[in-house]
Amino acid sequence: MPLPSSTRHVGLLNLGNTCYMNSMIQILFSVSEFRDSLLSLSLPSQPASLLFQFQLLLTSLLRSQRPFYDPSAFCRALGVDVNRQMDVDEFFSTFMDRLEECLGEKKSLIREQFGGSMRHSITCEECRAESVREELCLSLPLVVKNKSSIQEGLAELVMAESLYGQNAYHCE
Ligand SMILES: [Zn+2]
Repeated sequence: MPLPSSTRHVGLLNLGNTCYMNSMIQILFSVSEFRDSLLSLSLPSQPASLLFQFQLLLTSLLRSQRPFYDPSAFCRALGVDVNRQMDVDEFFSTFMDRLEECLGEKKSLIREQFGGSMRHSITCEECRAESVREELCLSLPLVVKNKSSIQEGLAELVMAESLYGQNAYHCE
């Protein structure tokens, strides 16, 4: 008996070593605002294009009556080698870069959803002079291994550290 649509989830076929990709796509799919704004764009005319294939994949995860979707055509459009295990963060940035290219004037959609900035600042212990560098990002390099919560990882990410020896900071 089919489950009610609200609790039914469509899976993604593992094509070899693509479990990292499938997890990331399911996460992106679950960001409903991102998914809906991509699906509201008009469909490109070339079925081989990445945007076309991603829209098809999202629609299938949303509406397919089958238990899973085969992302082979999506992998071809993105140029993913299905036999090579890739770092999920590397996959995410490559995918977002490529998607941004496909979106043209709608490319701000990605930054609106996931964009943030990291501010790195170094303060001189002697004169308190501060050197600041700000960097735009789509993801945070969060350590979760051996952490009891995401908050703990976030706290570590923004923790100040002292620079000594070879890493010492010399202000002008
Ligand atoms: Zn100084």
